[in-house]
Amino acid sequence: MLRTIAGFDRIGEENAFAVLARATELAGQGRDIINLGIGQPDFKTPEHIVEAAVKALRDGHHGYTPATGIPPLREAVAAGLYKRHGVETDPGNVLIVPGGKVTMFMAILMFGEPGAEILYPDPGFPIYRSMIEFTGARPVPVPIREDNDFAFSAEETLSLITDRTRLLILNSPANPTGGVTPRAEIETLVAGLERHPHVAVLSDEIYSQMTYDGMEHVSLTSFPSLADRLILLDGWSKTYAMTGWRMGYSVWPDALIDKARKLAVNAWSCVNAPAQYAGLAALTGPQTAVEEMVAEFDRRRRVIVEGLNAIDGITCRTPLGAFYAFPNVKQTGWKAKPLASALLEEAGVAVIGGPDFGILGEGYIRLSYANSTANIRTALERIGQFLQERGKVR
Ligand code: PLP
Repeated sequence: MLRTIAGFDRIGEENAFAVLARATELAGQGRDIINLGIGQPDFKTPEHIVEAAVKALRDGHHGYTPATGIPPLREAVAAGLYKRHGVETDPGNVLIVPGGKVTMFMAILMFGEPGAEILYPDPGFPIYRSMIEFTGARPVPVPIREDNDFAFSAEETLSLITDRTRLLILNSPANPTGGVTPRAEIETLVAGLERHPHVAVLSDEIYSQMTYDGMEHVSLTSFPSLADRLILLDGWSKTYAMTGWRMGYSVWPDALIDKARKLAVNAWSCVNAPAQYAGLAALTGPQTAVEEMVAEFDRRRRVIVEGLNAIDGITCRTPLGAFYAFPNVKQTGWKAKPLASALLEEAGVAVIGGPDFGILGEGYIRLSYANSTANIRTALERIGQFLQERGKVR
């Protein structure tokens, strides 16, 4: 028998991809399925970005690049961070990676091992916990609560830190809740972290450009006291509708950038060269497409929140970021995962059960509103109809 490392007995995955596969299968059988499951923009990558990749290939940019990314792209990332957050970043600390996810993979690998503890949000992006388990470290969930508008609590987070804590993972704006943590809470957390200099921080800011109702995104990079232990995760996937390009970036502190570079050299050598030129065009070109996409998400957000709250048994807080609604379905009489599965199989609406994002996700489902308003309205009708017929039965 082949004997692999124990981590594979513990590694998980992302159920959103299984739901996507099932939704596609049902659609292939002729069923009319509305997919509010997967978290990816339904817009096309803006034309000038696509053209930049095509031009890069025509110009002969088809070979290896430096493992850390092409210099103009790393400079553009640094310039973008300065523009958005007012933070001076040395392009030498920037690493271009094949997708935002890769940064969490690397950071968790760097800090996780048996005996170590890693704090992560629950409910939260499922890969955090999966990778922590893989390394053998102890996953310590930081509760993300509905009555706190799905922001993290600085006090609760700090109370979970021990001598064994190696890494704290933060995510705002958040998946799956759409929660955005306000400045005051982040400031309290950062001040408290000064008492724990042994804790590194991974700030997942992949939805940094998607906030609504005037809510500000506060980047952890804007706090100098964290500069020597903060890893920033961001990228192109959500902001520029580029999920399939596999393009992300991270900023690493001086003590870690060379370790990160070595991991990159060992694993993928460099990111797809034409995709890096596309990423450069995205950052340096017009941002109107981003503004339009965010404005459209905002319109859909209102439609979905209003529609969900009109359904008997469902209540939904207004998410202030990302493109997810995370309604409370406890009064429907259904557990979240059976409800998600019945909505797909019987009502033709793909959503994700809250427990796929952690134990505290029970009682909630996640709907991605990266779909047309017309589809969102039809999905809401179907969910309402389904619960009228089948609600409060279990
Ligand atoms: N971080 C969060 C919170 C996400 O929701 C996602 C994608 O859904 C990612 C990271 C990964 O993004 P990418 O597709 O760039 O790997």
